[in-house]
Amino acid sequence: MFAKILIANRGEIAVRIIRACKEMGIATVAVFSEADREALHVSLADESICIGPPPVKDSYLNMTAILSAAVATGAQAIHPGYGLLSENARFAQLCEQCHITFIGPPAQIISKMGDKDEARRTMVAAGVPVVPGCDLVPDAQTALREAKRIGFPLLIKARAGGGGRGIRLVEREEEVENAFLAASSEAASAFGDGACYMEKFLRPVKHIEMQVIADQQGNVVCLGERECSVQRKNQKLIEESPSPVVDEKTRRQMIDVSTKAAKAVGYQGVGTIEFLYDREGNFYFMEMNTRLQVEHPVTEMVTGIDLVKWQIRVAAGQPLGFSQEDIRLEGCAIECRINAENPSQGFRPSCGRVSLLHIPGGPWVRFDTALYQDYFVPPYYDSMIGKLIVHAKTREEAIRKMQAALCELVIEGLDHNAEFQMDVLEDEEFRNGTYTTNLMEKRGWV
Ligand code: ADP
Ligand code: ADP
Ligand code: MG
Repeated sequence: MFAKILIANRGEIAVRIIRACKEMGIATVAVFSEADREALHVSLADESICIGPPPVKDSYLNMTAILSAAVATGAQAIHPGYGLLSENARFAQLCEQCHITFIGPPAQIISKMGDKDEARRTMVAAGVPVVPGCDLVPDAQTALREAKRIGFPLLIKARAGGGGRGIRLVEREEEVENAFLAASSEAASAFGDGACYMEKFLRPVKHIEMQVIADQQGNVVCLGERECSVQRKNQKLIEESPSPVVDEKTRRQMIDVSTKAAKAVGYQGVGTIEFLYDREGNFYFMEMNTRLQVEHPVTEMVTGIDLVKWQIRVAAGQPLGFSQEDIRLEGCAIECRINAENPSQGFRPSCGRVSLLHIPGGPWVRFDTALYQDYFVPPYYDSMIGKLIVHAKTREEAIRKMQAALCELVIEGLDHNAEFQMDVLEDEEFRNGTYTTNLMEKRGWV
């Protein structure tokens, strides 16, 4: 096992990883930007190193500074968290070259799956159903030809896209050529890669994803599904496990397909395979995230498995301590993402000093956050400031528990979306479980 791990991230996920390391007796190194001197992850870690100015490109994405910090402190492994460098194959490769373990899959698996077009083709080869569509489109004429074949509406997707960005909806034939040109030039400036492919826009659909974990011995276990259909602008807001619509037979199929897919690519570490799920119960591969997921806690709550600890163990070469037969989804877990934004002002991001903080408690209530009283939330980073997670025997009880916990949550000094989350929980389609990814548009909550 590693003696010391550097955490190349910030916020709640850095805190989450430091906690796991502490419980495992592993020393921790935090890295931080000049805006994060007072951040919680810095005070919780055993050591900390400043890696540059506030913008992420100068600090949390500064590979040289992070690797130098690891070498200087003698860290044997780097945990990248999610976002930032977590799906950066070049960074994983640099870690290997510095003889530091990157806690994640090998660099070539990250690049295979991070290229959403190659991932699609890999899944087709592995016998996984994918959304009807096409491979990379070289020019606007081909886009038009392929679009007519696929049918409308369709999505133009950047192969390098992520975090809900790099996706464009096309409703009509006349729009295809211009949309394609705009999409690829946008992708070129956002991701440094203009390549795009197209997919049929399925609706109404649910977003249902499967959590897998694989060790270096070739064992793959699937920890069931999470439903993440409550989204705004393709970004998840509420996640739950199990999905209220997936029956045991479909779950088995999705587990089999996901395990097969992970084995086909020789996967290692934790990963998430995202599917679209239609009204008939058909599911189609959308993409694979080769990292720890923001919403991993809901899976932890229903399976009783600490994903971060197992992620560290398999990265250190230990075999999985459980098999597929041991996995049962017990009860229901729900997560609400708490974002520093103002829903009544177009979800404008907010920052400021936390003048009053009260974190809800009680049985089976969990709040993953890096906030503390008087902490200043800086303007430079992701607006997610906490994740409220509850677990109960039934979905109805979990919803009531979430409502009570949201009521209790107090964060003063900046705007946040807790009340908005309450409105979503009240929604009839959310209540009966039939909600799909267009819930926000349908309610005019965009
Ligand atoms: P999850 O499915 O775990 O919620 P997301 O796709 O929302 O994952 O991404 C997790 C985090 O990483 C978010 O903070 C998101 O903004 C960020 N992120 C993911 N991919 C990118 C990307 N290509 N560029 C910028 N940020 C990204
Ligand atoms: P990202 O890498 O940004 O997470 P995804 O490909 O996972 O991008 O898509 C993000 C979201 O967009 C999905 O969760 C889903 O709600 C929606 N989406 C993506 N592809 C389709 C599609 N073909 N049809 C309908 N909705 C889609
Ligand atoms: Mg996705």
